[in-house]
Order: sequence, then structure tokens, then C-alpha cells
Amino acid sequence: MALRLHNTLSGRKEPFTTLVPNVANVYVCGPTVYDYAHLGHARCYVVYDVLVRHLRETGYEVKFVRNYTDVDDKILKRAAERGESPRELSQRFIDAFAEDMARLHCLTPDVEPRVSEHIPEIIALIEKLVERGHAYVSDGDVYYSVESFPDYGKLSHRSLDQLKAGASERLSDTEQARKKHPADFVLWKGGVHEGATWESPFGPGRPGWHIECSAMSMKHLGETLDLHGGGLDLVFPHHENEVAQSEGATGRCFSNCWVHNGFVEVDKEKMSKSLGNFFTARELFERHEPEALRYFVMTVHYRAPLSLDWTLDDEGKVSGFPSIEEAERRVEYLYRTRLRLESIPEARIKEEEAPLPDELGKLRERLHTALDDDLNMPVALAHVADFLRATNELADRAATKKGTVARSAIEAAREGFELLGRWLGLGTETPSDVLDRIRARRARALGLSGEAIEQKIAERAEARAQRDFARADAIRDELAALGVELHDGPNGTTWTIP
Ligand SMILES: [Zn+2]
Repeated sequence: MALRLHNTLSGRKEPFTTLVPNVANVYVCGPTVYDYAHLGHARCYVVYDVLVRHLRETGYEVKFVRNYTDVDDKILKRAAERGESPRELSQRFIDAFAEDMARLHCLTPDVEPRVSEHIPEIIALIEKLVERGHAYVSDGDVYYSVESFPDYGKLSHRSLDQLKAGASERLSDTEQARKKHPADFVLWKGGVHEGATWESPFGPGRPGWHIECSAMSMKHLGETLDLHGGGLDLVFPHHENEVAQSEGATGRCFSNCWVHNGFVEVDKEKMSKSLGNFFTARELFERHEPEALRYFVMTVHYRAPLSLDWTLDDEGKVSGFPSIEEAERRVEYLYRTRLRLESIPEARIKEEEAPLPDELGKLRERLHTALDDDLNMPVALAHVADFLRATNELADRAATKKGTVARSAIEAAREGFELLGRWLGLGTETPSDVLDRIRARRARALGLSGEAIEQKIAERAEARAQRDFARADAIRDELAALGVELHDGPNGTTWTIP
């Protein structure tokens, strides 16, 4: 088995190779920190989190770098609107982003470089490009000359002629006049920008967007990366420009493999602020477990579009997200299964010879094969579902009269949950915490309070103690009509909202 990934550069699925055996240098473009993370970010970073976990789990030593773009027009504009310094504003959103990623169970990258802390490296890279004839100074700005780099367009599979036609329509006359070719792009923006101006050999100014990723990735990972990832919308121009900058400066291949994840679509359209169908990850976390969002992302192949559907209430407001609700049911099932496994009494576990079901014994092999095939997460989740079903069968058997289960099966199931946590980032929280939160949210959605339900359960217990079974049954029926199910057990009555 060996990992195969779809490489945007070749347009094909091909074996993943690294410069140094079993060491993978991975760079993923991070967020521009002027607002909260949305579903598009959640998708992108969950995908690369699974990829990095998969590489580690299959024997790679991974160095994972993901940047923060903290110098940008949108940051400057928003900071000015709010009367905040760009640095304060971006720090606030960096903290919020890190918090959201942790809730999605995304591992923290090994290095999280910020543009504002890499200005000397950026300037040095621009100087090198000027020296090598790939960049030119024009009226205080520095531009990259796309005609100086014959391979320009190789990543996005476009020709300079196509780009010329497209670019010239979008440019103002002043911008046109400064550039040699309409597709030339800015490396250094001359001028004074409030809160974001640095001195340079080309005069005061600040870096353009694309140069930062070339400078930061090469600083932290070397001149040639094993894998560069990002959203599909970054292929052109951002990643095309990164290739031109890095290869123009070093004369070496910048990244051997380019991976791009698909868009998030809302009601079949691309999610965007202008369409008014835009949800931050935090807004979704208020309605559902963050892990449900992670699971939802994993239900679709990373290269395919991810569609978010919703339902509306009578007033035309969004009332729910059926796909995330479904994902939350799967997450709930996962935790419930783990809880059942943990509750199997020691007395029911026997040192007996018994064949291990493949769903338990071959989980590792199955996850490995699924994810080696271009990170096929939906297939991996199907194996998870089989594993959970087999684990529930163990719990069912242990719950029958005199039923016993083999210790080898219990151990395989426990190991399976550890694998899911490490490899997929699923099921790592305390089961009762997650289940309680899901139940409380569902109760709230039905207009019920946990205390009121507990109160009814106490009344029912009292009625039963007094042998008033008609009253006890009436309370059960009353709760059932509200959507609450009661479960009587040896330790009392518990409730769920299915
Ligand atoms: Zn980037």
C-alpha cells in the first residue's frame, strides 16, 4: 500500500513521494485573519488535518506549516472602520480561529508563521527576483514579470495569451501603465499604509499577497516542499504565482505535489457573503457539536463540492441543517457505542478463543487502504460504521442473560476507538459530555428544559413507589408526546431525545 494523491500539477492521481524517505514537509495556505472562520475554512482545514494525521499514522515524520495572513487590505480596512490597530484586530481573529480549529479537533500545525513577522525574508526574496530578472520596480511598486518565467501557467493549466485577454479587462489604466504584461502581479506595494508600512530597498510599502507564502514556506520547510495544499479557489492566481516566485528565485521545483480541496456550496451555489448564505463555524457550533461539522466534511470526497442544505421556518429564517443533523446523529452513535463498550462489566469478559470479526480486527488496514486512495474519507467512514456496528454487537451479547464476550474482541474494539481518535480525530471527547450537550440542545429546540424533564421523572418514580401505575404511565406518555424517551435501568431512569 502506498499513498496516491490527485496532484493538480499533473492533473492525475499519482504516488506520493517525498525528498527524504518518510519525512513529509507540508504547507497549507492559512486564513486571512479579519473575520471568523466559516464553513469553507472548516472544510479546508479538516481535510488537511486528516491528511496530516494519515501521513503520521502511516509512518511519516510530518512537518506541517500553516500561515496566518495578517497583512492585507481587508484587515487594514476593517481595523480602520473599528478604530483598532491592524495588529490588535488580526490577533483577535487568530485567537478565535485557533479556538475554532481546536473545537473541530484539528491539530495545531508545527509552525504558524505570520506575514508581519517575515518581512525581512519577503524583502530578501523580492530582491533576489529583481536580481534574477524576474521582477521589476515600477513607480514605487515591484511587479513579477510573468513573461520572464516560461513555465507560468503550468499549475492552473493556462497559457499567457489566455491570461492576457482576461487580465487586461480587469485593470485600470494606471495599473496597466505600471505593468509590462497585464498578468504581472505585485510583490511590493509602495506607499504608506496606516499600521502596515515597512522600509525596503524599493522604498516604503508592504508585501503583496502571493509573495508571503513563497517566503514563509521556503523559510520553514526548504526550497522544495513535498506537498502544498489549499482550497481550489487558490490554484489561480495565488498558487500559480507562488510557483513562479519560488522557482524563479531558486531554479528548483517548488512543490512536488499540489492538493486542492473543493468548494462549499450552499443550496448548490458557492457559499459567499454576497449571496447571504454565509455561516460562520461559530454560528454552526451553536446549533451542533463541532465534531458533527468535522464528520459532515468527511462524508464527501475532498475534491468534490460539499453541499450544505437547510430548512426554513415560517418566517423564512434558517431553522436547521439536515446534513449536519445527520452527521451529529452519527457522532452521537459513535459516543453512545463507546459508552456501551466502556460499560461492559468485567465479569462478562472471558479469556476465550473466538474468531475476531474483520470489522474490529481489520479496522487499521481498512482505514489505511481507504485513505491511501486519494484520502477517501467517505470510504473510511463506512468502515467506521461497520466497526461501530460490530462493537454494538459485543455490547448486545454482553447484555444478554449469561452472555460473554472474548477479551480479544473487547481489546480490538478499544484499540479501534483509539485509532479513530488519532487517525480521524473522531470520538476523542468524554462521551457523557458530548451526549449531554446534544441532548440539552435538542431539548432547547423543543422548548423543554432538562430540569422540567427531571422533575417529571421524579414524579413518575414517586407514583411508581406508591404503586400508582396509571399515573406513572401517564407521565411517560406525556413526555413521549413531547419527544422525550425514558429508559428504565438498574440505576434509575434516564432520558433521551432521539
Ligand atoms: Zn498561500
